[in-house]
Amino acid sequence: KSQSKSKVPKEGLFPEIIRENYLGSRKLLNKKAIISGGDSGIGQAVAVHFAREGADVAIVYKESDKDAEETRKLVEKEGQKCILTKGDVSKKAFRKKCLDSIKKEWKTIDILVNNAGIQFPKNDIEKIPDAQILETFNVNIISMIAFTRDFLTLMQKGSRIICTTSVTAYRGSDHLIDYSSTKGAIATFIRSLAVNLADKNILVNGVAPGPIWTPLVKETFDDLSTFGKDNPLKRAGQPSEVAPAFVFLASEDASFITGEIIHINGGDFVGG
Ligand code: NAD
Repeated sequence: KSQSKSKVPKEGLFPEIIRENYLGSRKLLNKKAIISGGDSGIGQAVAVHFAREGADVAIVYKESDKDAEETRKLVEKEGQKCILTKGDVSKKAFRKKCLDSIKKEWKTIDILVNNAGIQFPKNDIEKIPDAQILETFNVNIISMIAFTRDFLTLMQKGSRIICTTSVTAYRGSDHLIDYSSTKGAIATFIRSLAVNLADKNILVNGVAPGPIWTPLVKETFDDLSTFGKDNPLKRAGQPSEVAPAFVFLASEDASFITGEIIHINGGDFVGG
């Protein structure tokens, strides 16, 4: 993303989507990947890395046509195709429309990245409205299970599923209670699905980011001055530091890995 368009107004810490020196070694040549939430933050970085590795991508996104168009341009700059599919993954009718259009265009897919996620501002449990709990679960985990079930019909042996969970799945979060609970559910979903699909040689893995500079955190954290300071590296990460793990899990290099989750968080301990 160009700095002027970034929604994270932190000097020197605008989201970096891909490092200039990320060469790529065509690890995903001729692959077709669908990426939910691929218009922004981590998902956008995954789309651009996949493209640099030789994959065509389909982006599923909810809100910003501008961000989606920007992603399309970045993917096309890498010489790959980019399909944009706009809608809400928590709506059954949209999931069907999305499946039908990808099926028509591609017939099969090789990689599904379940990355779309939402987070409401931090709150005490007494103040969480029912509607927020429902929406967080609907978008983050319920639609992930349904979307995966639907897109499995387009997958063959050797396909990959990669889901974005979070450090909060393991540590919990004092004030993101509904959100962290959905991320814990995603971690369990990854392990369960990996076993369920092993006989089809469809590998299911996850990535658990810690604090990463994306528009999501700008919208949900009041105070970003301490964001990412409580890990051993004492900083938040960039989308460009998370996306290469998705490339690895989608590639042949990860052919004997399933049910695993890669933690990318600047170190997950406080010493002592
Ligand atoms: P982001 O807001 O930049 O991107 C999330 C994208 O998900 C949105 O752009 C949107 O297009 C899509 N989305 C949201 N709701 C949707 C819906 N109902 N239907 C379709 N698309 C929808 O945020 P991000 O930080 O890049 O988050 C990506 C994933 O990483 C999320 O699952 C998030 O929980 C997870 N994560 C982020 C961090 C972090 O610090 N940024 C840490 C841990 C986990």
